[in-house]
Amino acid sequence: VMASMAHLQKEKLQLQEELLELQEKLAARENDELSLSLQLQGQVETLKAKLLEQAQEISRLRSELGGTDAEKHRDLLAAENERLRQEMKACEGELRELRRQQQQAPCRDCPHLQENARLQEQLSQLQREAEETRAKLVELDLEVQQKTNRLAEVELRLKDSLAERAEEEERLSRRLRDSQETIASLKSQPQQIKYIIKTVEVESAKAKQTLCETQSRNQYLQEQVGMQRQVLKEMEQQLQSSQKTEAQLRAQIMMYEAELERAHGQMLEEMQAMEEEKNHAIEEAFSRAQVEMKAVHENLAGVRTNLLTLQPALRTLTHDYNSLKRQVRDFPLLLQETLRSARAEISQAIEEVHTTNRELLRKYRRELQLRKKCHNELVRLKGNIRVFGRVRPITKEDGEGPEAANAVTFDTDDDAVLHLLHKGKQVSFELDKVFPPQASQEEVFQEVQALVTSCIDGYNVCIFAYGQTGAGKTYTMEGTAANPGINQRALQLLFSEVRGKAADWDYTITVSAAEIYNEALRDLLGKEPQEKLEIKLCPDGSGQLYVPGLTEFRVQSVEDINKVFEFGHVKRVTECTNLNEHSSRSHALLIITVRGLDRSTGLRTTGKLNLVDLAGSERVGRSGAEGSRLREAQHINKSLSALGDVIYALRSRQGHVPFRNSKLTYLLQDSLSGDSKTLMMVQVSPAEKNTSETLCSLKFAERVRSVELGPVSRKAELASWPSQEQLEGDSSGSAATPGRGHTSHSPGQLSGRTASIRRKLQTSG
Ligand code: ADP
Ligand code: MG
Repeated sequence: VMASMAHLQKEKLQLQEELLELQEKLAARENDELSLSLQLQGQVETLKAKLLEQAQEISRLRSELGGTDAEKHRDLLAAENERLRQEMKACEGELRELRRQQQQAPCRDCPHLQENARLQEQLSQLQREAEETRAKLVELDLEVQQKTNRLAEVELRLKDSLAERAEEEERLSRRLRDSQETIASLKSQPQQIKYIIKTVEVESAKAKQTLCETQSRNQYLQEQVGMQRQVLKEMEQQLQSSQKTEAQLRAQIMMYEAELERAHGQMLEEMQAMEEEKNHAIEEAFSRAQVEMKAVHENLAGVRTNLLTLQPALRTLTHDYNSLKRQVRDFPLLLQETLRSARAEISQAIEEVHTTNRELLRKYRRELQLRKKCHNELVRLKGNIRVFGRVRPITKEDGEGPEAANAVTFDTDDDAVLHLLHKGKQVSFELDKVFPPQASQEEVFQEVQALVTSCIDGYNVCIFAYGQTGAGKTYTMEGTAANPGINQRALQLLFSEVRGKAADWDYTITVSAAEIYNEALRDLLGKEPQEKLEIKLCPDGSGQLYVPGLTEFRVQSVEDINKVFEFGHVKRVTECTNLNEHSSRSHALLIITVRGLDRSTGLRTTGKLNLVDLAGSERVGRSGAEGSRLREAQHINKSLSALGDVIYALRSRQGHVPFRNSKLTYLLQDSLSGDSKTLMMVQVSPAEKNTSETLCSLKFAERVRSVELGPVSRKAELASWPSQEQLEGDSSGSAATPGRGHTSHSPGQLSGRTASIRRKLQTSG
């Protein structure tokens, strides 16, 4: 704004200048007009005089001739007179026109006039400059005058001093002469005086006195002469110095004169140059003005022609403009109409989309329901209770030599069969699936994935890791940081599934961690981990169980889970036994609860995923435990056999399921009964030294699995279901009764995997 203000100010100043110029021009123009009118008046005057003369001539001729010739001449003259009168009238008219023009449209911005004014200004400037130069010249003249005056003075002074000097010289020479004369006279005198002295000496004392006086006088005179001589010398020196000064002054005068001469010449030159410059500038300006004038005239002509051509264009433009105006006036109506129709179309389209959308949503829901049912059916077909086996690789901790040799082999055709070499005899087992040592965590999880999905659909799921200490339970459930186990993978899958359904469903995932040690339930995430928790029936009458005071963490990301796990690990009770340095003597439970709410229908689902890392299943005698260790082992054995009992009862569909026999089964009651899914992952070590424990675990696994048979065989199995203690005793003499191998199927039954699938299909109706 400031900049534009300044700019405007500048423009204003410029305009004012222009105005002044124009006013000047106007004055000049007025002068011109005035002179022209004066001239015209003079013409008129002369014409009038001529007319008078003619009239006189006519009358003279008329009087002279009185004849026809004279009359002819008179007629001629009268015509001439008339013409002249008309001419005069025209002149007067022109004059009037000019006056009027001047009054009406004073020439305002004729460039020629502008140029003229500018030139005049230049001229005046040049004149001013000339004036200045002249003033300077006068100043210089004055200076010269002063200098000459001073010179004259100096000369005068010099003359005076010369005259003085001459006088002095003369005086001095006169005195010199006098002195010389005196000296001469004195020189001539001594003889006399000596003589007199002599005579006087002889004569009298008076004469002696006179002699003395004379002598002193003589001395005085001699002194005087010396002084005079000195004065003379000084005078001579003075004379010399004054002569020098004179020469100097003369040189100065010469110099001044030369300078004066030069200044004068310079001044003259400058004046001449200025004069020339002035003339040149005037000429140039004049010529330029003429050229510009011509150009302006040409421009004017061009503008005139332009104007002529522009008029038709203007006419067409006006026409166009009018038609456009009409169109603009009609436009709002048109627009409104179009808008109305468009709106109607759009709303109709929206309506259509809406209905299709609703239809699609309905179909989608039905499909979703169907998928859920199908998935459940699939899981059920696979078996609501399944038993997997996993063989860990031989590790460094197994040591070397025959003790660490591999005792487990697999069937290349059937991934559900494994062979154990125990005490020189090969025993075969059939489970739902067997994972060899090289099976990765991912492969294991792929088999578990369907269960996790079921959990989102609202089913309860239990996954157990069973086996002796060091067989890889913790590895399968938790895994390592680089290669996580089922825990993390399940949660990750849950997160991604939940995210995929976020458009329709609101899901909250909470995590609890607990452990059961010596039949006491403890919260691993609570503030007081030593506190024993109780399992109670829900007061709402739903028959569900819950644990008051069990901490639940809401998790939303993998980072959250890691934090929860770290927190839980610290509190896990682990003790050293001679079987494994970090043998876990308690059951660790990770309970993941998935609560979903369908936003559109308000339907709520709750699914529970229980991941249980069971305590080591090894027998007490072997671990060499005593006292509290022994009690621990007894509790573990009891709870494991109770778990076996429960699963057995479930798979054989018994009326009574002994959930209450241990804390573990009681806690997991909801997740084991009804439409829940259970997976038992039996971990075994392939090492030769562990074969008896491996045999035990595999027997447990096969017994759990083989329960699910037809009603007849189930009964038969029912009779042969042993307790955990019996199982242990059994394993010591296992060579005699090698469990349920392939070979022991009844003859009517099909062997292998196909047979088991068919059995499942039959039982599921
Ligand atoms: P448990 O929990 O049954 O006592 P761990 O899970 O602690 O046994 O396993 C004992 C050791 O064997 C660990 O060092 C573990 O890393 C290793 N291990 C177990 N299973 C596997 C496997 N499938 N692959 C590689 N190492 C394994
Ligand atoms: Mg462990």
